Amino acid sequence: MARYRCRNCNNEGTFSYSGKHECPKCGSRDVQFALSIEELGDYDPLIVALKKMADDGTEQS
Ligand SMILES: [Zn+2]
Repeated sequence: MARYRCRNCNNEGTFSYSGKHECPKCGSRDVQFALSIEELGDYDPLIVALKKMADDGTEQS
């Protein structure tokens, strides 16, 4: 299970991460997730995005 907090509907709780970055309650994308990395595969879009962000960070000086 992962935790989420939605800034659109102010709902928060736990949910089963299904690969979509959106609020399970209202469908808003303005939502924060707190996932344990172990739940995700290396090729999950969210992990790929995080890795891409990390790579971009190292390239900037
Ligand atoms: Zn919501």
